[in-house]
Amino acid sequence: MSGKILIIEDEKKIARFMELELMHEGYEVDSFRSGEQGLESFANNDYDLVLLDIMLPEMSGMEVCSRVREQSDIPIIMVTAKDSVPEKVKGLDYGADDYVTKPFDIEELLARIRAQLRRFDTKDKEVLKIDNLVMETERHVVKRDGEEIELTKKEYDLLEYLLKNQDIVVSREQLLREVWGYDYTGETNIVDVYIRYLRSKIDDPFENKLIQTVRGVGYVLREE
Ligand code: CA
Repeated sequence: MSGKILIIEDEKKIARFMELELMHEGYEVDSFRSGEQGLESFANNDYDLVLLDIMLPEMSGMEVCSRVREQSDIPIIMVTAKDSVPEKVKGLDYGADDYVTKPFDIEELLARIRAQLRRFDTKDKEVLKIDNLVMETERHVVKRDGEEIELTKKEYDLLEYLLKNQDIVVSREQLLREVWGYDYTGETNIVDVYIRYLRSKIDDPFENKLIQTVRGVGYVLREE
């Protein structure tokens, strides 16, 4: 099984051990020592699963867990040193899917990872389409004319929103709110910048342009 896994664990030895074992199994792995770093990487990458230590310095694993949950239903496995029932229950309350207790058997951890990935992989598959552009939302794959197109997380989110609203003109403000979130405080021209990135990947190499600019209003994804 393959996939990209985010490890957030402050204990170097344990983190390194998980990293090596997971890479040996063929997973791609990013590993961070703090919740802040982990969340930042989460925002900028597409992961398939998160391995999250509960006892982290500063931002706790519980807090990280609920922040990830606000944005995604990616599988989260909590790694905890505490073998007490209340901690486990709390972890699951915060949105974790499963947990392992340290010291854990690596085979058990791998089995739990496989189970979560499988569960997530077969969940309500959804395909969004326009012209010969296809987005498989559960696998996070975008193809045009059969060729897979690599998108960053934001480009993907933007395209997903446009696809779900195809043939509807959406304003910059709407895109900012829906794709970047209410608490985004940066430049508003970020929308135009990302539309440009997206165009260069999904439109420029093809004859039929799908992203249309509606002057003074915003953008629309439609077949001409
Ligand atoms: Ca720890």
